[in-house]
Amino acid sequence: MDTSELKAEGIRWDLGGLYTGPDDPHIEADLAEARRQAEVFAQTYRGKIAGGHLDGPALARALADYETLDELRQRPSFYASLLFAADTQNQNAQRLLQRTREAATDTANLLVFFALELIAVEDEQMAALLAAPEMAEYRHYLETLRRFKPHTLSEKEEQLLNQKQLTSASAFEQLYEELSGSLHFRLTVDGEERELTDGEVIALLHHPDRELRERAFTTFLETHAQHSLVFTSIFNNILLDHKIDCDLRHYDDVVLPTHLANEIAPETVEAMMHAVERHYPLAQDYFGLKARLLGLDQLKNTDLYAPIEAEAEEISFSQAQSLILTAFGRFNEQFAALAADFFYKRWIDAEVRAGKRGGAFCAALSPQHHPYILCSYNGTSRDISTVAHELGHGIHYSLSRRQKPLNYDAPLVLAETASVFAEIVLTRHLLAETQSVSARRALLCGLLEEMYGTVFRQTALTRFEMAAHRQRRASQLSTEDICALWLQEQEKLFRTSVDMIPVYKWGWTYISHFIHSRFYCYSYSFGELLTLALFQRYLDEGEAFVPGYMRLLESGGSQRPERALAQLGIDINQPEFWSRGFRVIEGFLDDLRATL
Ligand SMILES: [Zn+2]
Repeated sequence: MDTSELKAEGIRWDLGGLYTGPDDPHIEADLAEARRQAEVFAQTYRGKIAGGHLDGPALARALADYETLDELRQRPSFYASLLFAADTQNQNAQRLLQRTREAATDTANLLVFFALELIAVEDEQMAALLAAPEMAEYRHYLETLRRFKPHTLSEKEEQLLNQKQLTSASAFEQLYEELSGSLHFRLTVDGEERELTDGEVIALLHHPDRELRERAFTTFLETHAQHSLVFTSIFNNILLDHKIDCDLRHYDDVVLPTHLANEIAPETVEAMMHAVERHYPLAQDYFGLKARLLGLDQLKNTDLYAPIEAEAEEISFSQAQSLILTAFGRFNEQFAALAADFFYKRWIDAEVRAGKRGGAFCAALSPQHHPYILCSYNGTSRDISTVAHELGHGIHYSLSRRQKPLNYDAPLVLAETASVFAEIVLTRHLLAETQSVSARRALLCGLLEEMYGTVFRQTALTRFEMAAHRQRRASQLSTEDICALWLQEQEKLFRTSVDMIPVYKWGWTYISHFIHSRFYCYSYSFGELLTLALFQRYLDEGEAFVPGYMRLLESGGSQRPERALAQLGIDINQPEFWSRGFRVIEGFLDDLRATL
């Protein structure tokens, strides 16, 4: 097959719905208009909310104005972040991102008072305000916001922190992205010396040649290690910045801001993580089976994603599109129709290009705009799953567009509810279509590796991140400290089932979640286990399950996860809820064992 089609050449997103280009005069006009509206908003409402001058309907109008203004404020920097992700080495995109972020922060500072006054309102007065029917859709937003009351500072302090953010955490995030995006990896592939992007070199972990896999990952990690000074400094600064933030805001534990934002009790998260750790032997069982399939005594960690077929089948982007849409259509017509929009309306950028941000994401600004997907499609079955995963996010965002902007984003632990589901729907469709033992094996391995990577690996990543943050409370971490913590948590997961190559000690340098979002990784484990349990219900209940599931997706961020799930009859505080998720994994392991 011709590689241009394989690599999704020409599959680029159309950002025209936002702006016509980085020089579009509407960008500056929107920045100025957002600022003007923010000034008017502040003049109108400052002192009125905490002062008790507004009744329920008037406060609902203020919240609606705030939503409109906030969307306008963020639109330029949202656009710039997409331009930058598509081409991280483009100086115009870098400059525009910087400029629009600064302007958005300046404007946000004029609005800081609003959340602070909403938090300051006395409980009794808030109850009276919430009694107005116009306020019904803002209840959840206000209750969530007001849980931060003990951790909120004065307006001046909040403004200072916002401004200093640009030269603290945000600056290190940007440096991390620029450095990671600038790395190139020299490697001999098929007798030819080539310079590969991070996406291409990581894709080689799925190559059938064992020696090439190890050489590719070694080159990848050693290239990162050459910049260990910068990565260590970025890492330490992110840790310290978070520590300072937690101290200033009176959090006893560094994970609490994440749990509060996720609207999940710390005990619920710990119970989930302990359940995963108790089931680490399931991951080790899988690696034992995989070693047998590969004819090895023991896997190295560069074998985890090795194809079990000698010839990996390559799938063109257009084939991937039709397979995904057929699979989604068998689950639900609306699910397929919403996914089709991304292909037909050019909301997806799938082409492999140098300088493009690694990994994949689905980004959404507000219910007024459709979401966008970025990935680097290389033609492997793993890449199809990634596209299905991101489309799941896209469908979720599309369904929750009926929510108000303040209720648009699903809480993080529900954010993977559609993406992981979409991946399983795709794989089961492919399993049903294929009779060949070797092809079924490959599909089961792909699915189990996805579950390993999400449920087990993400918990190990979170344990590493927690350990690093807790150690930073005592002192700065040396490069060797970070490497040692990293290996320690990986060893707990692998035990004797996997032999880690020594250079894997640099594995922490390329996990961008550690830089961008504190303790994000546990939400993957949480979300996947949750989705496995939901999928089991779909298998048990069939069609009857679908309407409730779609309502869960439509609810976006309008209610607490616990409550949203209770409507589907799920109690996340019951230990058997988590066991049900593992039973699904055990079932797939049995299916794989049966092929041996
Ligand atoms: Zn995801």
